[in-house]
Amino acid sequence: MFRDQVIRLGLVLSVIFATALAIVLSVSMTYTLMKLRGVPFTDNSLLISIFAPLFSAPIMLTPLFKAFMKIDSLEHEMRKLAMLDELTGIMNRRAFFSNAEQVIGMANQNNVEMSLAYIDLDNFKSINDTYGHAVGDQVIMEFSRIIRGIIRKSDLVGRVGGEEFALLVHGAGAKDAHQLLERLLAEIRLQQIETPAGKLNFTASAGLVHISSYEQKQIHILLADADKALNHAKRTGKDRVVAFEANLGVSMPA
Ligand code: GH3
Ligand code: MG
Ligand code: MG
Repeated sequence: MFRDQVIRLGLVLSVIFATALAIVLSVSMTYTLMKLRGVPFTDNSLLISIFAPLFSAPIMLTPLFKAFMKIDSLEHEMRKLAMLDELTGIMNRRAFFSNAEQVIGMANQNNVEMSLAYIDLDNFKSINDTYGHAVGDQVIMEFSRIIRGIIRKSDLVGRVGGEEFALLVHGAGAKDAHQLLERLLAEIRLQQIETPAGKLNFTASAGLVHISSYEQKQIHILLADADKALNHAKRTGKDRVVAFEANLGVSMPA
């Protein structure tokens, strides 16, 4: 597409290129027309057919190409916004799923270890009921601020539900990921949120699944396994990390 070419070349090169093209067209058209009418193609005709587009093309094309670039950057911004969760600024569910799918695929090819955590804030309904929805939102924002501070650039975090988050820990074995999650829960436990009704503490639970490159599972299957581990964490007292094991789904409540 013409607009894509302009964006690829950049403003200055596009204007130079388009002006050169306009000059070539202008000279060849003037020459052809004059020949057809039997008028000699003089030096003056040549100069006019060069200088007319040389001055007019940049004046007309620069604002047009600038508009192309503005549209492109707005489209880029819109695509970015469509990927982000409005409240927390981290990836939304759709973005997390598509990015995680890609990262896991690449990690499998390169034999890189990964772990996936499903994290859910504890007793969130009662936080909303006691302190109000706005404080609940504040807790969600505080949680995402803490998790963003703990993870590395190569990790992915997304808000996959109301008070539910998914974390893909890149290059981490089961033990390292477990420690990271423990550190996250410890930091959350220490966090105090000031509310009009006094100080508020909150906790979270996490289910963790190790992603082995030998069994190439899809993200939604991995997340379902992590969810089973999360349910186990909820049933066994909350505020803890549980690693997925095949028999977790059938274990009885503690
Ligand atoms: P558990 O410890 O078992 O996770 O209990 P819970 O109360 O946290 O679990 P539940 O999933 O039943 O409650 C989640 C609540 O989160 C219900 C819903 O009203 C609330 N919620 C969902 N999205 C938002 C949001 O964006 N802001 C606020 N303030 N509340 C939300
Ligand atoms: Mg929940
Ligand atoms: Mg909850």
